[in-house]
Amino acid sequence: MTLPGRRPDLGYLHPTMRIMREMVDVFVGMGFQVAEGPEVEWDYYNFEKLNIPRDHPARDMWSTFYVANAQRPGEMLLRTHTSPNQVRVMERLRPPVRFVVPGKCYRYEAIDASHEAMFYQLEGFAVDETITMADLKGVLTTFARQIFGQDSKVRFRCDYFPFVEPGVEVSIDCHVCRGSGCRLCKGTGWLEILGAGMIHPKVLEGVGYDPGKVSGFAFGMGLERVAMLKYGIDDIRLFYGNDVRFLHQIT
Ligand SMILES: [Zn+2]
Repeated sequence: MTLPGRRPDLGYLHPTMRIMREMVDVFVGMGFQVAEGPEVEWDYYNFEKLNIPRDHPARDMWSTFYVANAQRPGEMLLRTHTSPNQVRVMERLRPPVRFVVPGKCYRYEAIDASHEAMFYQLEGFAVDETITMADLKGVLTTFARQIFGQDSKVRFRCDYFPFVEPGVEVSIDCHVCRGSGCRLCKGTGWLEILGAGMIHPKVLEGVGYDPGKVSGFAFGMGLERVAMLKYGIDDIRLFYGNDVRFLHQIT
């Protein structure tokens, strides 16, 4: 009768959910709302409305899983990024809009230490009358410092994505070597964490906004990538390997 009972095993938040909540909290603190959208998406939202028409070579950047649909062949797919929700949200609302969209994405990838066929992204965007690149830099610098530490340095460099103009690639200084170069940052001192830019006028026009009156920025990043850098995880396959030894470590 007095023998203590068996303790049930306590569960923990999965590292992906944990980093998602942490990241969403940072953006909510800056006034962003949270939206979600479908994982099975139309080509129209995933590509066309994001300034990536059918014959555009940029489609090669997203290896896509198509879903068979007898009525609309070749038009249904598993979303390759969370960006279609930029369009879905803007179609419904007039500016000012400020949203983040976390969620699962799918790509037809060869799986290795840094690629998975299923992964999570967090998309963010803001549109209003006076939004400039300075707002984008401010928001992303605040984000990086809250997630990786107040002394983090942030670097912006030119990059190309069809739905932004200009586009940037954003890196933080490597927190392992603090910029002097190590294995994690491949000797560069910098770790790329996301892509961003000012929303392309064609995307704004496509949802009925006037690009002469309003402007906006958008960014997107992989959640696992952020978790890997923050918690020092060196292989993305560990996230979805269903190994409790891995899940138990982050408590
Ligand atoms: Zn380093």
